[in-house]
Amino acid sequence: MKRIAIIGGGAAGLVAAYYAKKEDTSVVVYEKNGVVGKKLRLTGNGRCNYSNADLSILHFEHSRGYSEPDFMDSFALEDDLKLIDKVITDDGNNQFTGFLNEIGIVSCEHNGYFYPLSERAGEMTDVLFGALKRRGVDFRLSAPVEEIKTDSEGKFVIGEDLYDSVILACGGKAAPSTGSDGGGYRLARSFGHTVTYTYPSLVPLLVRNHITDELAGVRVKGRVKGFYDDVNAGCNEGEIQFTKDWISGIPVLQVSRRLTRPIEEKRAVCLEMDFLSFLGENENDAFLEKRLSNLGDLELDLFFEGILPDKLYRFLLSEFRKLDYHETFETDTDKARFLDFIRHYRIEITGHAGFPQAQCTRGGVLLSEVGDHMESLKTPGVFFAGEMLDVDGDCGGYNLQWAYSSGRKAGENA
Ligand SMILES: Cc1cc2nc3c(=O)[nH]c(=O)nc-3n(C[C@H](O)[C@H](O)[C@H](O)COP(=O)(O)OP(=O)(O)OC[C@H]3O[C@@H](n4cnc5c(N)ncnc54)[C@H](O)[C@@H]3O)c2cc1C
Repeated sequence: MKRIAIIGGGAAGLVAAYYAKKEDTSVVVYEKNGVVGKKLRLTGNGRCNYSNADLSILHFEHSRGYSEPDFMDSFALEDDLKLIDKVITDDGNNQFTGFLNEIGIVSCEHNGYFYPLSERAGEMTDVLFGALKRRGVDFRLSAPVEEIKTDSEGKFVIGEDLYDSVILACGGKAAPSTGSDGGGYRLARSFGHTVTYTYPSLVPLLVRNHITDELAGVRVKGRVKGFYDDVNAGCNEGEIQFTKDWISGIPVLQVSRRLTRPIEEKRAVCLEMDFLSFLGENENDAFLEKRLSNLGDLELDLFFEGILPDKLYRFLLSEFRKLDYHETFETDTDKARFLDFIRHYRIEITGHAGFPQAQCTRGGVLLSEVGDHMESLKTPGVFFAGEMLDVDGDCGGYNLQWAYSSGRKAGENA
């Protein structure tokens, strides 16, 4: 019997356990919490968005390419991205969905986003746990692994137990209350691995001034572009949410991936909001003309009413008025200027909400030290899976797909 230890009972570790368990292997999962999959149970607002129909490599990144202004071109050539691409495209969402079916979970798709049919992440985790137990995987719960030694025969020693291979699936630092607090990196380092700087990713952002006080509670559809030192760090569209402390919502989380590092480096970071993203870039004139022909008599205070949430409209009007000292803003030119203003409204960003509020970790175990079977190039017999590697994906099921694909590779090859 080959003996395999898996450290971490999150999405990646559980998948790895499933594929590692064969007739001639014994598999033990060590999980520091009293239950497995604490984070998995929270995913997708409790609905578990596990994958996406579009698994293009453009949805995955690693931390090292960040500083290139033209990052997409420079990424495309990098070996690390090729590794991510290979691991993802070797199986993809069909394989993930097939795996879920195999253990009894029916799935569904909404606009390219995959969920379990029940849309209950907790139930999905329970079914997965049950399938693993039936398969003969052994679990050590409330069992944090602090140290893994090697003996003279090259076996891995955890407490009193000896193993032929070890899969490290300890997660990153995001949402540390779920167990992944970065402690796994210490184990990786003990096997000779480099861990990059880590930053929160998919995280709400902090705004300097009065904006969030005034706009708390506003939810509005729009397009968000992120900039650091005037470098375009990406763009996304969807519902923007203002809370008392943060600015959030899917498009903000998406662009946060490339902004948390510049924020920590105290660079000039801002978000540019287009609150009329339903219009094409060059459609201002046509839109204004039509509106003028219908509502041309109205003063600016009323002219755009009905397009934006009222609280946001009033706020933007008062910000617009601060730009200039006219008494009135009633001309067609003022209306055109205001339209342009609300399509390029810039908000200065001064902080992020940190790992406790983040959905993912940017950075981790360096990919160039891992082979495409997820085996360590430093210490044979050690494998990696999931978020503890330097891979982070967009919102939309990409991080769980990475956990699945890398977990499967590690499990099959361990
Ligand atoms: C609120 C929230 C919502 C999310 N929603 C989605 C979504 O809808 N779709 C999506 O694709 N992604 C989502 N994500 C991201 C996704 O959940 C993670 O990327 C993924 O779960 C990572 O899996 P993992 O197994 O690598 O790590 P984790 O899930 O973090 O699991 C690691 C496990 O290892 C254990 N552990 C760590 N160190 C040790 C040790 N030394 N000894 C023993 N055990 C240890 C931890 O307790 C933990 O259980 C979300 C994340 C959050 C926080």
